Order: sequence, then C-alpha cells, then structure tokens
Amino acid sequence: MITQAHIIAWLQDCARVFEAQKATLTELDSPIGDADHGINMARGFGKVADKLPSLAENDISGILKAVGMTLMSTVGGAAGPLYGTFFTRAAAAVTGKPELDSADVLALLGAGADGIAQRGRAVPNDKTMLDALYPAAAALKAALDGGADLLPALEACVAAAEAGVQATIPLIARKGRASYLGERSIGHQDPGATSAALLLRALLEAAKALT
Ligand code: ADP
Ligand code: MG
Repeated sequence: MITQAHIIAWLQDCARVFEAQKATLTELDSPIGDADHGINMARGFGKVADKLPSLAENDISGILKAVGMTLMSTVGGAAGPLYGTFFTRAAAAVTGKPELDSADVLALLGAGADGIAQRGRAVPNDKTMLDALYPAAAALKAALDGGADLLPALEACVAAAEAGVQATIPLIARKGRASYLGERSIGHQDPGATSAALLLRALLEAAKALT
C-alpha cells in the first residue's frame, strides 16, 4: 500500500532530486530546447516542498491536486502545465482513497499520462515525457497482471521508464521546442522524458524506504 506518508516522502524527494539533477536536465535541454528544463523542475518542486507542511491534513488526492496547481502556477514553459495536468488528473483518479493499492497506483499513472497526452496533443514516439510514462504504465500493468506485488511491479515500471528515456535518443521530436529542429533533434535524449523517469524512480524509492 502507498500511504499519505509515502506520497509526502515522494514529493519531498522530488524536490531534492530535481535540485540535484538541475544542471543535467538543463544540459539535456540545451541542444534541443532553451536550457531551462532543470531550472523549471527544480523551481516547481521547490515550491511544492515549501507547500507540503500546509498539506499535512489533506488526503492523497488533495495533496496531488495541490501539487498540480502549484506546478501550473509556478513553472513556466511546457513542463509546468504538462506536469500540472499530470498531478491534477492523478489526483482525480484517486479521489477519496485513504491509501493506494496496486490498482490505484496504476490508475494514477495512467490518468496522469493521458492528461499530458491530451494537454500536449502528443502521442508515443513524439520524443516527450510520454515516452517514459507510457512504457512505465504498461510495464506496471504487465507486472501486476502477472501477479507481482507492488514494489517489484514498481521496479519494473521504473526500469521501463528509464529504457523509454534511452529510446528517445534516436527519435525526431514532434512536439514542443525540440520539434523546431526537425531531424537535428535526432541523437539527443529528451529532457522531459528524463524528468518523468526521475519522478517515478523517486516514487519507488519513497515506497521502498517506508515499507
Ligand atoms: P519548454 O520546452 O517550454 O522550455 P521545458 O524545457 O521545461 O519547457 O520542457 C521541455 C519538455 O517538455 C520536453 O523535453 C518534452 O518532454 C516536453 N514537452 C514539450 N512539449 C510537449 C507536448 N506538447 N506534449 C508533451 N510533452 C511535451
Ligand atoms: Mg526548455
């Protein structure tokens, strides 16, 4: 089970991870973007961490919704509205749940990814965050369908996200700033897919640490 305490630990860890990975993500965003993705993610999750103490009484859905609103209002660029949508859709998928079982975690991830797809009008292989999130959701589902417990299923989920990140390298970007480069976007790892995999790894680590 994923509890409210796991979710808070996850979000705190995201702030730490995105601060630590700020330069790396910004470096990935420089050849195929405007070199701000690390700054955007670190700023957004820094604001989320600042808000967490005031959210302690909220349930999981309430916390995720507040995260979505915070990201939308504090992060510029494409990533703010897209991750904001991820968290508001994820929140709606787990309304009223005091804790999350495996099916709830899958619903959360699927709803969040679909939210990004709709908001960004993106499909798989457009070289976006979806290229980490959709393989991750598919691997989570396959592991759970195969009878795995939540933690090993989350391990498979994160491994698929990380493989998805590597698989963005040969793709032509079809959405966002990177798409302006056309074929010159080939050969570069997508920054948004990279941050999406970091987000999921942080969830796994939080789930493991508090089990
Ligand atoms: P910006 O491109 O506005 O500078 P960021 O640098 O923070 O925003 O985020 C760039 C990332 O956003 C890309 O690497 C890509 O993964 C993702 N992205 C951009 N446009 C879209 C879109 N339309 N749909 C889904 N993801 C997108
Ligand atoms: Mg950028």
